[in-house]
Amino acid sequence: MTNDIFGPFPGGADFAAALTDAQRARFDQLGANLDVVERRIADACAAAGRPREEVTLIVVTKTYPAEDTALLAGLGVTDVAENRDQDAAPKAERCVNLPLTWHFVGQLQTNKARSVVRYADLVHSVDRERLVDSLAAAVHNAERPPLGCLVQVALDKEAGEGEHRAGVAPADVLALAAKIADTPGLRLDGVMTVAPLAGPLAGDPARSFARLAEIASAVRAEHPTATMVSAGMSGDLEQAIAAGATHVRVGTAVLGVRSPLG
Ligand SMILES: *Cc1c(COP(=O)(O)O)cnc(C)c1O
Repeated sequence: MTNDIFGPFPGGADFAAALTDAQRARFDQLGANLDVVERRIADACAAAGRPREEVTLIVVTKTYPAEDTALLAGLGVTDVAENRDQDAAPKAERCVNLPLTWHFVGQLQTNKARSVVRYADLVHSVDRERLVDSLAAAVHNAERPPLGCLVQVALDKEAGEGEHRAGVAPADVLALAAKIADTPGLRLDGVMTVAPLAGPLAGDPARSFARLAEIASAVRAEHPTATMVSAGMSGDLEQAIAAGATHVRVGTAVLGVRSPLG
């Protein structure tokens, strides 16, 4: 290989100048998409009267190759997310020299905890006590720094509605948050949601994220350092920022539409 976009980069190295033509085209495309997303975030922050620095963009790289993750790092992206351990583990391994924070945002089986704690800095999808125990044991065995944890809230479980989204019912959030906060090796960082497709809030991301904001504030009242509110994707990041999201998780608007299998 004549160049290695996976680093490490000696100080002052010009990332873009080392790219092949194909890499350069993808780099430019990702850069243009990022510009659009950055503008949307800045506009949403301005509309909400919030400083731009209050919102972190997490680029969801699921289904896309490790090379895209490296190009994103070259474009200044600092935070990436994945939702399947099978794909994420090798990708993170390949990108280990890049200055990236890794977020895990997918449904997580307890038997995958051991693998996920090897590369994830934060898990946004903590949704049951058994997973808390598995993650804590895995962190202990890996002898790694504390794992950031967010409670995933299923807003469609609100009035005993169907279980269409992963996560815990709003009524159970405080109990799970307390368990995380009390567990060595884990750090309670906040709450996460995906706007519901079913139930009374379906199709109304603004109301969904307003409900999440209430839940986030109840969690913060008991755990003042749990300040993260992870909400908003390509289609609804404006509503999330208006409702106080601190982290938006954007996939397709940066990388393109995923294949149906993704
Ligand atoms: C895929 C995914 C996203 C990004 O969704 P886009 O619509 O592609 O922006 C955000 N959050 C979670 C949990 C995801 O699985």
